[in-house]
Parts: sequence; structure tokens; C-alpha cells
Amino acid sequence: MTTFLGMPTVAPRGVGQLRGDEPFPAAARKALADDQLRRNLGHATRTIRAKRAAVVGEVPDWEELRRAGEAIKARTMATLDTQLERLEREVIARGGTVHWARDANEANRIVLDLVRATGADEVVKVKSMATQEIGLNEALAAGGVAAWETDLAELIVQLGHDKPSHILVPAIHRNRAEIRDIFLREMPGVDPDLTDEPRRLAMAARAHLRRKFLTARVAVSGANFAVAETGTLAVVESEGNGRMCLTLPRTLITVMGIEKVVPAWTDLEVFLQLLPRSSTGERMNPYTSLWTGVTPGDGPREFHLVLLDNGRTAVLADEAGRSALHCIRCSACLNVCPVYERTGGHAYGSVYPGPIGAVLSPQLTGVEDNASLPYASSLCGACFDACPVRIDIPSLLVHLRAEHVEERAKRAVPSPEAIGMAAGSWVMARPGRFRGAERLMRLGRVLGRRHDRISALPPPLSAWTASRDLPRPPAQTFREWWKARAARSAS
Ligand code: SF4
Repeated sequence: MTTFLGMPTVAPRGVGQLRGDEPFPAAARKALADDQLRRNLGHATRTIRAKRAAVVGEVPDWEELRRAGEAIKARTMATLDTQLERLEREVIARGGTVHWARDANEANRIVLDLVRATGADEVVKVKSMATQEIGLNEALAAGGVAAWETDLAELIVQLGHDKPSHILVPAIHRNRAEIRDIFLREMPGVDPDLTDEPRRLAMAARAHLRRKFLTARVAVSGANFAVAETGTLAVVESEGNGRMCLTLPRTLITVMGIEKVVPAWTDLEVFLQLLPRSSTGERMNPYTSLWTGVTPGDGPREFHLVLLDNGRTAVLADEAGRSALHCIRCSACLNVCPVYERTGGHAYGSVYPGPIGAVLSPQLTGVEDNASLPYASSLCGACFDACPVRIDIPSLLVHLRAEHVEERAKRAVPSPEAIGMAAGSWVMARPGRFRGAERLMRLGRVLGRRHDRISALPPPLSAWTASRDLPRPPAQTFREWWKARAARSAS
């Protein structure tokens, strides 16, 4: 076992919210039956795709930018230990405190202890995938601390007792009427005549959140990037709620996955061009907040940075799979994915849905704990084309599928698929066996005679016909046809 900054490169003990209650195919089947969900998703992803395509088309050197982003990430991952130690030194030198968390349990305990030390019983939160990944809100609630989401979409999800279904637009599965109903039901003091007009909904959320911003003593955020050379953290957002959380409370706690570090400011320049165009379809983010340690008389007086592993060092140790750590969470791959567009994010079970979730979640938990996700893809390659840092997601999915097959091969009791493959290989190993199998296949002509296809077979073959038909076998095999053709030409 190799070690990384003293951390063992193994799957973490408490992985947080990275796996669902049921495998993807079962969850996807339910999602596909929900017409409203499909309408909401289709409309939202079409709109974001069009916005992204327009602003990406404006940049003549977009491909060069993508290659630069890819190269910076690869270089950073190759020197991650050095970059993180440098980041730690710089944050401490500027008055911050750095904590290292091996897994979700450890990170949650660190944050809860820090909040308790301030005497606060509530925190305001900036939208953060890392804190969702570790289930921080639930852990804080169990410890008697209320966590208030302040990003509008996260607020909708929280008030609706729901789960996020998209990395960037967590309430993408909701339409305006549903959001109004949630606000009327759950938001204290909301105008009972609230309509579903976007401006009215935003004003209701604004009034609700303003009270929280002004009273909160502690804020919790994630980070989009951390610049190692100066110990500077960066959060980009569209609403300004993040800026409120990052500046008003006395104590700021940032939970950041260790892969978010970049070596220098010149590297940040590349990502601040790639991220907004790929995510919200904007030329630049409306709010880019940067902070370095603490500054007397300006902003929080205490700053804590929690550096989260939670399986990342295990991903880093996998040479073929480590490029998944290059992800900047823009969600462009979700918006172009035909599977995501039809099933939505909940079917993936993990806080990371869509193509990158189908890679990252099994990598972070260990493939066998999320074994159905690498198959939740048609491998069409649209995700690779859209990814601003050129992560080859289809190849990563195939790599994980291979890992899964290898794991299954080690089992004492082989799976039906393995038995089927072994039987197929035995039949195809000898021409005589193959001829016999072809003759047997002819029996299928009886089953398919009515509709010219076979729609139902007995178990275990029923697993195939449950979702697709088999064509009726032809009256003549290829070999018979070839023989007859040769005989005709000879005569
Ligand atoms: S894999 Fe690429 S496209 Fe998908 S969220 Fe990450 S950076 Fe964006």
C-alpha cells in the first residue's frame, strides 16, 4: 500500500452520500415513468446546452484553453502532495488553520467541533458539492446544529425535503409551479399570494435568506479552487449569496476536496475562463470571491480550511483512472448526456450524477459499491467533447467496467452473465459445436412465428427479453446459404 501525505490510499471508512438505495437500472426505470420530470429536464438541459454552445463558439482558442486546463490539472495531480503542503503553509502564514480529513466521518466531526467551539447552533452555507458528498448537513443536524442552504436552488431542495439532482442546478427537476408550492408550504412568513413568476420567487427567497445572513455567526463553504502559491481560496457563483456567507459571519469554515488546488494564479486564469462558459453559459461568473487567510477589520476573524480526501488518494493511485480528479464540476457533461437527460440525477443515487458521477462515485466508494454506474452510459462521447478539461469519460467508464468484471470473476459463485459468456466461448471454440448451436437456434422459429420476433423467453434468458425483442432466426443458416450459393455457381 502506498501512502500520500501520511494518508493510506484506500477507500474511506465513511464515504458519505455517494451511493443510492438501489442500482441505477431500477432507479432509472422509475424516473423514466415520470413524464413531468422528463419534461422539466428536457427543457432545462436544452436551454443550458444552447447557452453554452453560443458562448463557447465566441472563443477562437477554446480548444487551446481546454488543452491548457488539461495540462495544468495533470501537472497538479503529479505534484499534489507538494502543492497541498505549500497551500497549508501559506494559509497558516496568513492567519488561517488547516485540518486534514481522511473521510466523511472525520470531516464532519472536525466541522461540528469547530461550530460548537463558537457556541453557535446554526450555520449558513454556500453551495458546495464537497459538503454534500460527506453529508455535512445531516451530521450537523445530528449534533444539534442547523445548516441553512443559501444558494437558491439548494434552498428549494432543502425546503422541499428533496435531494439535489444536478451538480450546478440542484433543483433542475422542479418547475416554477412546484417551487412556488414548496415556498408556500415551507418558507416562514412568505406572502400567501406568491406567484410562480421567477422575480417574485427570487424576492421571496431573498427576504428569507437576508434574515439568516444577518444573524449567522458561522458560515460553511466549499471552494472551486485554491491557489497554492498564496494560500488563496476561490468561490465562483451567480447570486451573491456566497459573497454574503464569505464576508459577514465571524467564522468561516471551508471544506475542499484535495484535488481543487492549483499551483499558481496564472493557472487560475485558465479555469476562470473555462468554468463559466461550460457551466452557466456565461462569459464570466457574476461573483468571484477570493480570500487569503484572515484580514483584521475585513471579513471573518477566523478561517478554517478542511482538506478532504474521502477516497481521492485511492483515485490518484490509479494511473488509468486519476484524470477524473481533473473535474472542475462545471456539469457540461450532464447537460449533453442522453442518459442523464432522460433519467435525471436522482437515479444515480450519488451526489455526483451524470457522466462524471458514473465515474467518480464508484471510484470514491470502490467499484463494487456502485457497480451499476459505469454502465449508465451509451459511450456516445458527447461528455468528452463538452468537458472543458478534456476528461475522457468514455474511456474511464470502460476502465471501470473492466475492473468490475475482474472483481466478479474472483467470486466463488459466477454470475449468470459469466456463465453465459463461458457457454458462448465453449460453443464458439469448435465448428461442430457452433453448427449444432445454429441448428438448435432454429427452434426459435416456432416461438417467433406469430409476430416474426421473440418477445418472451424463460429465465434466465427472460432478463434479455424483458426489455427487448429477439429477431426470429432465419430459416437458413449462413453456412447453409453459402453452401447453396456455391452449389448454384458450380452448376
Ligand atoms: S467531467 Fe468535465 S464536463 Fe463533467 S463536470 Fe467535470 S469538468 Fe465538467
